[in-house]
Amino acid sequence: MPSPTGDPFLLTPGPLTTARETKEAMLHDWGSRDSGFIEANARVRNRILEIANATHSHVCVPVQGSGTFAVEATLGTLIPDYGKSLILVNGAYGHRMAKILKIIGRQYVILETPEDTPPDPEEVDDMLDNDDEYSHVIMVHCETTSGILNPIKEISKITKARELSLIIDSMSAFGAIALNANEIQFDAVMASSNKCLEGVPGMGFSIIRKSVLEGCEGNAHSLSLDLYDQWQNMEKTQQWRFTPPTHVIAAFDKALDIYDAEGGPDGRGKRYRNNCRILVEGMREMGFETLLPDDLQAPIIITFKMPADANFEFQTFYDGLKDKDYVIYPGKLTVADSFRIGCIGQLGEAEMRGALQAVRQTMNEMNVVNGAP
Ligand SMILES: *Cc1c(COP(=O)(O)O)cnc(C)c1O
Repeated sequence: MPSPTGDPFLLTPGPLTTARETKEAMLHDWGSRDSGFIEANARVRNRILEIANATHSHVCVPVQGSGTFAVEATLGTLIPDYGKSLILVNGAYGHRMAKILKIIGRQYVILETPEDTPPDPEEVDDMLDNDDEYSHVIMVHCETTSGILNPIKEISKITKARELSLIIDSMSAFGAIALNANEIQFDAVMASSNKCLEGVPGMGFSIIRKSVLEGCEGNAHSLSLDLYDQWQNMEKTQQWRFTPPTHVIAAFDKALDIYDAEGGPDGRGKRYRNNCRILVEGMREMGFETLLPDDLQAPIIITFKMPADANFEFQTFYDGLKDKDYVIYPGKLTVADSFRIGCIGQLGEAEMRGALQAVRQTMNEMNVVNGAP
């Protein structure tokens, strides 16, 4: 199927395909003190809190840049230099948080499981038992490296019982997979404008427990990534400290209208689960195998094992799909040779079926009869 804009469909973890109305919302210029912009900024921040049911307990602090900027800003602002973190790692984004802590000089220990294995809550509990110096537990909600869903609820019960601070990178899940502050006790959740909320890239944000952030003055390792300062300034003046990504926020506000109209987290989650199901079923019919069993698979991005057929060559496959207007994503795994297909963004059943048709055609062109690994 042809794309309505002539741009290819992005079956990736981001940047993603966005709605026409979201792109059109950027066809204006705003001054940073413009009342329309200030209202949109306040609205976006409130709407993000509502999604997490965190309006009364937390504040939303945005920051310019991609998602990693929000992650680095949150870790630097919340973890004091005497803090000690346990990082649960099963992919590249967990490792990235460890790298951030290393660079900014905070103590941490990694508990690593293979990319197709979630952390075991009992093992986490044991590690915390053996060392009472831990102050924070840090984890990834959906580890985009594989597409695995990690057990944030089980881990939050452990951190709650021990009165430890839980920080969750929910970048690729927020807005589509339930994360309710009433059910999961967290001190910070990071996400961005451009993943499941389907805005354009350029703004990260952190949902931070207000009582915690109030005590974070002076923690940050960086001026521009100091979320305490960003928050204080925004509360006092309604404005960003430095040039705000005005167009990104205008587009985000529109993307959130579309999100609400779709039914919020339930509606968005339902569409993505349907996308994921269609894609996985169709690929399995062609012989492809997913890395993960269905009960560990988040409906965000799916890792497929590389086919064994000698005629299969990934770059040719990628280019063949791109020619047909579908962009997929290379694998990032260490456990298996693989590639990934995302099912988030402004895409539905028709685009998923179109992608499957393009895969079938490209396999024919390559003389690959079966996708089995
Ligand atoms: C996308 C993503 C990020 C942020 O990546 P950026 O490229 O900086 O936007 C962080 N964590 C996870 C789990 C992600 O999927």
